Amino acid sequence: MLDINPIVKTIQVPGIRVFSNKVAGYPDGINLTIGQPDFPTPENVKEAAVTAIRESRTGYSHNAGLLELRQSVADFFQDTYNFSYAPDEEIIVTNGASEGLDSVLRTIIEPGDEVILPAPTYSGYDSLVRLNGGVPVHMDISVSNFKPEAEAIRQTVTDRTKAIIFNHPSNPTGVSLSHPEMAVLVETLAELDVFVISDEIYSENTFSGKHTSFGSFEALHDRLFIIHGLSKSHAMTGWRLGFILGPAEVMRYVLRVHLNNSICAALPSQYAAIEALKNTRHFPLEMNERYIERRDFVHGKLTAMGLSCETPTGAFYIFPSVEGTGFDDITFAERLLEEEHVAVVPGSAFAKEGRNHIRISYASAMEHLEVGMQRMERFVKKYQPKING
Ligand code: PMP
Repeated sequence: MLDINPIVKTIQVPGIRVFSNKVAGYPDGINLTIGQPDFPTPENVKEAAVTAIRESRTGYSHNAGLLELRQSVADFFQDTYNFSYAPDEEIIVTNGASEGLDSVLRTIIEPGDEVILPAPTYSGYDSLVRLNGGVPVHMDISVSNFKPEAEAIRQTVTDRTKAIIFNHPSNPTGVSLSHPEMAVLVETLAELDVFVISDEIYSENTFSGKHTSFGSFEALHDRLFIIHGLSKSHAMTGWRLGFILGPAEVMRYVLRVHLNNSICAALPSQYAAIEALKNTRHFPLEMNERYIERRDFVHGKLTAMGLSCETPTGAFYIFPSVEGTGFDDITFAERLLEEEHVAVVPGSAFAKEGRNHIRISYASAMEHLEVGMQRMERFVKKYQPKING
């Protein structure tokens, strides 16, 4: 084989996939690893794309996306979070949040630049930073209730630090930050010479109070990128529709990257997105009602089993500790799968700082969650007497 980029050879298949692939082999398997809403895309949103296709609105758009969509994105943030971004120079429509993140990282990273990732962390960040020649630096937040702290940021920043990536509500922990908590972080971030990348893809899946966006803090405006999209808020993972908000002086360079890797986001998806943002803003609230019921159910069951965890305040994941079971997270997940045919993700799939935890997704029907929890309880009980004795 001819030489390829050696960094690519070091990129691992995400740990999540290993378990979801295996559970598919069991006819009675319960898959609690899924990272996408288990709801269909709203009908009117689908219809908007179908109409666009029928009317042959199927070509390329402006590289940054349809202006009407960028305006809808700006309106959404203005109405929901009360801050403004200019549709003509501060918003780019991307092929999902993933491409948005990649385009931003490609724009800002120089070889060897460090990017701080509060860990446990969404596994995509680590790979994307490395693929772009950067060095991911994990900042352990398992020691601070999975919330990044200003002092830890100060201690982790070096003169090679180019950016820090935040993700609230968080995948995998379900943790959100309050306005006062963010204000403390912003004070520190504004003094440091680093870009702030805020992945707010789960913002609309916030259960108590309202999500606070980093965009609300004017002090960060010239260094902040908000990564967002409709994958989670409108059950549109397969539509590949995301957007980036950022400062005009840098966004014109992000656009050069984006237009070379994508030309533009898929046009029918862009029409669907206009419908979602203009006329279907209630949809995430309806999903949240279901998520909250399931979260409470799963949280209650886990607590009763002795697997301690905070009540998640957003996204659709819960991240209990399995320390009391005597198993490490990988053995726990493997044995649970083999013996009870229930798939969860070991916390160390989200960097070593996630070890001794598992991630359970409750984007799954209540019937599945009931069976899953029943089997998990049987599994935990089976081993606990031996451990305690
Ligand atoms: N960020 C986080 C934190 C995610 O969990 C995901 C999807 N699992 C993404 C980004 C990717 O989103 P998209 O499908 O819009 O690319």
